Amino acid sequence: MIELKNVRAGYGTPDAFVAAVDDVTLTVHDNEILGIAGESGCGKSTLMRTLYGDFSGGLKMTAGEVTGRFTDPDSGRTRESDAARFQDLWWDQISYVPQGSMSVLNPIMKVEKQIVDALPKREKQGSKAELRQRIVDFLAGFGLPETVLDSYPHQLSGGMRQRVLVAIAAFVRPRLILADEPTTALDVVVQKRILLMLVEIQRRLKNTLVLVSHDLGVHYQITDRIAIAYAGKIVEVGPTADVFEAPLHPYTEALIGALPRVGQKSERVGLDGRPPSLAAPPQGCRFAARCPEAQAICRQKSPPLVDKAPNHASACHFR
Ligand code: ADP
Ligand code: MG
Repeated sequence: MIELKNVRAGYGTPDAFVAAVDDVTLTVHDNEILGIAGESGCGKSTLMRTLYGDFSGGLKMTAGEVTGRFTDPDSGRTRESDAARFQDLWWDQISYVPQGSMSVLNPIMKVEKQIVDALPKREKQGSKAELRQRIVDFLAGFGLPETVLDSYPHQLSGGMRQRVLVAIAAFVRPRLILADEPTTALDVVVQKRILLMLVEIQRRLKNTLVLVSHDLGVHYQITDRIAIAYAGKIVEVGPTADVFEAPLHPYTEALIGALPRVGQKSERVGLDGRPPSLAAPPQGCRFAARCPEAQAICRQKSPPLVDKAPNHASACHFR
């Protein structure tokens, strides 16, 4: 569906160019749930904005290419595009729930108008009352009552606002939904409800969901494939079950090792330290400073992401 080839994207700052996505090659397949995991500051949100083709607020793509193919499941018609033109597909083929999106809703407009304004023409056929009823039915699936439509955002709880945003993103029946930490900061019950809705919608529409979460438990539960981001690089990508069962990169292993397990008596080992600065990243493997297995070569040469098993790639010299 979307292919990134050797993509470099980031932000110009007075000191340096911060390459938050640095030479990333990644394929997003049709009809899958792809997870993107990794610590904060590793470039997940920048990668999502690159997939969305949102080059605003100082984000620039300086190398590589992003191409997309969007196939309508009913007509079989395919539209091809590239990141610079994805904007034409927003809220039609591609929808996006940005991180920290609580503030995306307009505070001085009732929710119904905001939803209707966001819809493409094809969703607005029929009478206003019919459209309202369809929206009401759809929101009900998210546990949102009709009164939400006649409310201003500030009258809703954080969890409700977030559900409204996810609902708008899904209501347009896009081929691709990009959701960046859509449930972070919500309580566990609401979190679960939103994630289950996203999965249900993806199955029903047979579309693609790219989900960013720093919570590996979420990925384990719902994603088909997972990509692990570290310091602007994708260091491992593969089927989620394979990655959890046999992680190929020491960083992935450390993230999984830090997960709490049922019945586990000993404490899980967390990962010390922080990812390196992206303004001046170290030479060689970017994880070397924190890697218990790092050897001389790790600090000299940056390994490319290569397939080590069918569909399972890793950027580690030794595995
Ligand atoms: P993540 O989503 O994994 O936390 P981000 O993509 O948000 O990572 O950020 C990656 C890096 O890019 C960080 O070092 C962050 O400080 C930097 N960054 C993000 N947005 C901007 C911006 N608008 N201007 C400058 N640097 C930015
Ligand atoms: Mg982020």
